[in-house]
Parts: sequence; structure tokens; C-alpha cells
Amino acid sequence: SQKINEPKDTDIEKLRPASDPDNYERANATIISLVRNSEIGDIEKTMSTFEEKFNKKFRYTYTFINDEEFSQEFKDKVKSFSLAPMNFVTIPNSLWRKPDSIDEETQKKAIEKMKADGVSYADMDSYHNMCRFYSGNFYNIPELQKYKYYWRIEPGVKFYSDINYDVFKYLENTGKIYGFVVNAYDIAASIPTLWTETMKFLNTGNNYKYVNENGAFQWLLNDLQHPDNNEVTNGYSTCHFWSNFEIADMDFYRSEAYSKWFKYLDSTGKFYYERWGDAPVHSIGLGLFADKSKIHWFRDIGYYHNPFFNCPNHPKTSESNLAAEKFSPPIFSSGQIISPRLRNVKSKISSS
Ligand code: GDP
Ligand code: MN
Repeated sequence: SQKINEPKDTDIEKLRPASDPDNYERANATIISLVRNSEIGDIEKTMSTFEEKFNKKFRYTYTFINDEEFSQEFKDKVKSFSLAPMNFVTIPNSLWRKPDSIDEETQKKAIEKMKADGVSYADMDSYHNMCRFYSGNFYNIPELQKYKYYWRIEPGVKFYSDINYDVFKYLENTGKIYGFVVNAYDIAASIPTLWTETMKFLNTGNNYKYVNENGAFQWLLNDLQHPDNNEVTNGYSTCHFWSNFEIADMDFYRSEAYSKWFKYLDSTGKFYYERWGDAPVHSIGLGLFADKSKIHWFRDIGYYHNPFFNCPNHPKTSESNLAAEKFSPPIFSSGQIISPRLRNVKSKISSS
């Protein structure tokens, strides 16, 4: 197999770690992880390869986030896994809990429907809270406001390849705003009206102005691979970046376009009446409001979260990483092909 030599679009020699991590000038970035006290064992597993492959060389600050207070035991243990500084954050209830506006009867019925459609975690409020938090609120917690970039990690994942350059400075130097490793199709029944609601938003007032003319429309709308999904979701391909791994710029979410759109999505209550995930929400936001050349596939980073992986030199990577190839040249990063569907959407929008 051929050796992966990535990324190509910057002088990587300038992004190398310092020989002494104490004297390394870091980007404005932090490693984030939403985690429960009970997940100490799995976060240890994650950190052992994460430190080994990346962070022992750079010592970026960890920000651990929890809806409950972290126990002293959790803090003591986790501090023994790394020399990097660590912050422990308890999420304000207002950014985590189910809003009062969610109607119990409506939710009950909705849960029955989700269950009938085979949507897992349907009746777990905490899972819905988590998806909503990561979709629209995490970048506004006081402890993260000062940061621009984050790398999201999760308990129980693995990192396989040595990362010998500063991925945050890579984004900084190239002006990119979002990096992913795995890109897949979503469970359509978890987001039946996410696309329709998004179209409603774009059709309201002047909101269509937020759509970036160089968005990843083909990826959002491609109807060749998964016609079934398209029926359920009214046009959205369900292609999404798998958000358990993200290296990205929070200023994108803080932008007027994304925050206004999130506020609208939240007002529908469908983070609870459906099971909208943060992955499709981030992905649709990026596909519509960002220039697709600012989205980067870190194909050089070996990564595993059950059941998918990204493996730089493994022939099965494309098989596992279903939709990532769409983000390799030529379709993604060069001349775009606008799906006929988007033209319909556009004319629908402008005629309404
Ligand atoms: P999945 O990968 O979609 O099955 O979701 P996970 O169970 O991995 O949850 C995603 C992330 O959110 C993980 O980092 C979990 O530790 C975290 N998480 C999920 N629910 C909660 C919760 O209720 N409290 C806290 N503190 N973390 C949570
Ligand atoms: Mn997970």
C-alpha cells in the first residue's frame, strides 16, 4: 500500500512540535470531552493512545465537560493520564436540560413512533440532551468561550497513527474550519424532518442569504446512493461527518447563520420529538453555510469508534468510511457538481 503523505496544502515542517512541550507556543485551542464520572475507564483508554500519538508532544489543555459535578476520584485519576493542564466543567442546567417548552404528551407519542421506526435511545432524555448540547450549546459555555479551536474526543475510542504536526495550526494556517475522519450515512428515521425544517428556515425572511455559494450541496443532496434515505428525509442524503471526532473552529457555530438556524431548529422541539443528532446538524450547517474547501478530511489520522474506522493505508477504509470519498478530489475540493435537486430547492425557495 502507498504511504499517506498528508496534509499537502501547507508547509508541515512549520507545524512540528517543540522538543520541549513546556516551551511550545500553542494555538488557541482545547481538547474537549463530554464524559460521565462512570466512564473513567473508557476515557483512560482514549487518552492512552491520544497522548501517545498526539498530545504528549503538544500538551493542549483538556476541557472535561459533564452535566453533573466531576467526582474527586475522576479528577485525580484523569490527571494521572497526562501532563497537560485540565479544566473540569459542570454544564449549566439551562444549556443541558430538556426545555420546559417540550410537551410531555407530544413527546410520549413521538417516542412510540421512534421506537416503531427502530430509533435507538428514543426514550433516553439524556441522549437527546447530549445531541442538543453538542449541536448548539457547547461552544457557548463560559469555559469554552475563550477558545477558537477544539478537538472532540470520546471515551472508548482509539488513535492509531503518530500525528507529528499541530492539527490546530494546520486549520489556522489554511483557514480551514472543520476537520473529520469518518463520514457516513445516518439513520434516516432519526431525522425525518430535519431537512424540511431547514428549508422552512431558509424560506423565512432573508435567510437564504446565509447559504454559501460554494457549499457542499451535492453531498447533502446526492440521491444516487441512498434513495431510501431521501424518501424518509425529504431530500437530505443523510451524509454526515461522524462527530465523535471533530477538529474544528467554534467561530463557525458562533456565526449569525449557524446560531440563527440552530435557534430555529431548537424552537421546533425536535431534538426531543425526533432524535436529531449533532452529527447531521453540524454537517448540514457546514454543507450549507461554509465554503466546502474549508472542510478537511484528516485521512492521515487512524481512528476507531465502534463500528467505523479511518485507516490511512487500509484497503477497507473506503468501505468502512462510506461517504468520505466524496470529500476527496475531484468531487469535493475542486469543481462542484450541483445536484439537480438543489436547483429545485433553490427555485422553490426563491418562488415562495
Ligand atoms: P453514541 O456514540 O452515539 O452511542 O453516543 P455516546 O454514548 O458515545 O455519547 C456521546 C458522548 O456524550 C460521549 O462522550 C458520552 O460520554 C457523552 N454523554 C452521553 N450522554 C451523557 C450524559 O448524560 N452525561 C454526560 N456527562 N455525558 C454524556
Ligand atoms: Mn460514542
